[in-house]
Amino acid sequence: MKVFVIGIGLIGGSMVLDIKAHYPEATIYGIDTNEKHLQQALELGVIDKAATMDDLAIADFVIVSVPVNVALGLLPKVLDLINDNAIVLEVGSTKNPICEVVATHSRRRNFIATHPIAGTEFSGPSAALRDLFKGKTNIICEVEKTAFKLQEKALEVFKTLGMRIRYMDPKSHDKHIAYVSHLSHISSFMLGKTVIDKEKDEQDIFDMAGSGFESTVRLAKSSPAMWTPIFEQNKAQVLESLEEYISNLTKFKDLLVQDNYQSIYDEMASVNKIKEILNGISVKK
Ligand code: NAP
Repeated sequence: MKVFVIGIGLIGGSMVLDIKAHYPEATIYGIDTNEKHLQQALELGVIDKAATMDDLAIADFVIVSVPVNVALGLLPKVLDLINDNAIVLEVGSTKNPICEVVATHSRRRNFIATHPIAGTEFSGPSAALRDLFKGKTNIICEVEKTAFKLQEKALEVFKTLGMRIRYMDPKSHDKHIAYVSHLSHISSFMLGKTVIDKEKDEQDIFDMAGSGFESTVRLAKSSPAMWTPIFEQNKAQVLESLEEYISNLTKFKDLLVQDNYQSIYDEMASVNKIKEILNGISVKK
């Protein structure tokens, strides 16, 4: 099996590390515009060979794992260059614009739109991890538009990597993911900003930062190059989730101004059910 990964970072790199471990006969070809990442991926054994877009004709399996704005321009070109039996999968964090850009391509049946709900705040091939996808959900959109034989090929790989599959239409994906992923990143970035701005005046503040702060602000280490185009492509849904979040923050502030501690207590107690919700999800996994 000839597997190509375009964009050898956290997601693409982790995927090919697992593929290589489960399919030792596979040859992993890497394409990346970042020469340093390409060299690093070779040195770390994330890929077997460096390749170019001209080599795509020999690919059986192509993983496109680049920022979502780059994917919009790249995907039609990749589909132009592959052979008729190859499957191209894309892993970006938005799905509606991605599905739209390939909708009328003559090789749409060679494409599968996915979003593996797995990751860390780190980037590049050195961030690639074995078993990143084990027990994680992979959202697949518009599966009926992918040729059946090629769906089977991709699903077998996802199953081997330990992923659970959820099917969803791209608009629903983008709406729900705005709340559980995109909003979480904005809130973490802005919490980080609030504390950094304050730190200019109070040098000691980070000495007091505990594990609660560290875990809440973890996502603020994420790459702006990856996240800016995600917010751009999912602007309407992100704005809606942000308005609801700001409204909740304002209500909380008002309760504090009013010394309404009973309502503050009740509000937090009602949100405590997040424990059961999240436990329920990990039990199901
Ligand atoms: P990453 O670690 O930054 O890797 C992306 C790689 O693609 C980088 O080496 C980047 O180089 C390279 N690249 C940029 N433009 C390119 C081009 N035109 N051709 C070839 N390579 C190019 O990113 P990632 O975290 O793996 O994210 C990749 C995709 O997965 C994104 O679409 C993201 O939305 C999605 N995703 C991410 C997560 C997460 O938690 N990180 C989770 C699920 C899905 P430069 O660094 O020089 O730009």
